[in-house]
Amino acid sequence: MADYIYTLETRLTPEQMRGVTLVQDIARSAELNIYLTGGAVRDILTGFPIRDLDFTVQGNPLKLQKDLERAGAVIHGVDEPTHTLYLNLPGNVRAEISMARTEVHEKTGKPPVVAPATIIEDLRRRDFTVNAMALSLNEGSRGLLQDPFNGMADLEAKLLRIIHNYAFLEDPSRLIRATRFATRFGWPLEERTLARFEAAKEAKYIEHVSHKALGYEAEQLAYEDDPLHVIKVLEKEGWLSVLHPHWSSAKVDTVNLSAMMKVRQQMTELGYWTDPSPAVLHFLTSKLNEKDRHEIEKAIPRKGLVEGWRELERASKDLAKRLTGKEASTPSRTWTLLSSARTEAILFLAVTSKQQTVSGKIRNFLTKWREVQKRVPLVEMTELLITPAMPQYPKIANDVFLLLLDGRLRSQTEIMKYLKPLAPPPPPPPPPPRRGRAPKVVPGAVAPAAVVVAPVGKKGKKGAVVVAAPVPAALPVPVASKVAPAKDAAGKKAVPAKPVVVEKPVAKIVAKPAVKPAVAPKKPEKAKTKPVVKTKAKPASKPKPKAALKPKSKPAAKKKK
Ligand code: ATP
Ligand code: MG
Repeated sequence: MADYIYTLETRLTPEQMRGVTLVQDIARSAELNIYLTGGAVRDILTGFPIRDLDFTVQGNPLKLQKDLERAGAVIHGVDEPTHTLYLNLPGNVRAEISMARTEVHEKTGKPPVVAPATIIEDLRRRDFTVNAMALSLNEGSRGLLQDPFNGMADLEAKLLRIIHNYAFLEDPSRLIRATRFATRFGWPLEERTLARFEAAKEAKYIEHVSHKALGYEAEQLAYEDDPLHVIKVLEKEGWLSVLHPHWSSAKVDTVNLSAMMKVRQQMTELGYWTDPSPAVLHFLTSKLNEKDRHEIEKAIPRKGLVEGWRELERASKDLAKRLTGKEASTPSRTWTLLSSARTEAILFLAVTSKQQTVSGKIRNFLTKWREVQKRVPLVEMTELLITPAMPQYPKIANDVFLLLLDGRLRSQTEIMKYLKPLAPPPPPPPPPPRRGRAPKVVPGAVAPAAVVVAPVGKKGKKGAVVVAAPVPAALPVPVASKVAPAKDAAGKKAVPAKPVVVEKPVAKIVAKPAVKPAVAPKKPEKAKTKPVVKTKAKPASKPKPKAALKPKSKPAAKKKK
């Protein structure tokens, strides 16, 4: 039986993985069986980005609410009839936990009759085979895939197939879902599914779609990676006006939506996590009137998203005000302000602000000032032993960056003058070499290496191993790890990291036992140097192939005798 735990662990982001573990542990302590289901399983298996985590619990997940909140989850909505929790797990991981259930649709479009069920029964109520798989998170069966409709085969064939012939009749919102998934993944509907889809369209099943399902589908648009494309296809199929009678692609602020998606990409590349869904909803409905927008808001089940959407303009206005005030009077102050601002507000303001000062500052924050980060004198800092090993390192690195940003550290002299007092005291000199008997060398042992910083610009001593100085890994700013070749104050490309000289390690003396160095008490100087010479002769990692082939030959030490 295939075990998908490895796939799960490698495909989820670290935050999502922590979310899975958290929910799984909470369900376990409540003695509820829990499964990862729906799109999360589909996307884990296909390699598409995993947008949210769908969990299904055999039992009532609403019982887990308190424990989840205690663990840092934020509940954004509850659907009582289906016992579903809409929440964000720590690390902004969007998730949904629902009860395993059967749904009996007595009348098309009317709410189904819901009853608790097993996971296998639950999978039967789902929309498409590729969405009807479950991955066990339970002790004893963790990683086991339940796939009663062979969704795996459809994943491989890249096909959307309904689970039974009445799928669209039972719940016409599946027509919208079919179009949305087909557009997102570029997968066609399987032949019979397509025939049912066309027949359902012809018979206008969509007129019976429930208000609740429409709210759910409207919300899903906010999470699409290419919402504009999806909305245009939905419009073509006639589904957009079903979501709201006044909604059309003409009501979308396409210019700002596209610009916002680009800025979002830029922010992601810089290492900022941002949730674009409130802004997506804003631009998708920009040209609708207040009343229509309010109707869409009301229908969306995840109230946290609606709040974020409502908050957006207010939070952005507030940020704009701060960006034009004293708090942002210098580049370094602006940097500090924007570094702690809500990324959603930065994203929104970046495309909507009419004030040049505001948009200019955000632009600098996302582009120009990143170049200044590259001028943080990492090489000089390393020479002065100001490295990430120091607890004060993040602060020093940030302070230097801010001073550079404000043009308060211009020349090399100024930089060194600023850095020198911050350098830690040099390490104590290595202990003097022992006189008399040389240290006993244990076969296979590695002597500790003494680290000496080479003077700037000098080459390593003869016989010494030169290794690159450790480049400080990260500044306390998101892109610091990407800091490429350092530049000096004049903007010139700096030499690669200056070398640190490491005394040659007395590496694995395997071939020759420690007899020799111990002899010759009359010549202490020679004895002192011998272990080093020996290591050069026969490092353990490179045994002579002949010796291996001739096990009977005499050992080297014996020969010398
Ligand atoms: P994504 O979240 O990536 O958009 P998804 O398939 O997870 O895709 P969700 O809306 O998160 O979609 O729903 C989770 C799962 O719930 C689906 O995969 C599907 O199994 C089930 N589901 C959702 N809506 C319906 C529906 N209208 N009919 C049947 N099953 C549904
Ligand atoms: Mg999902």
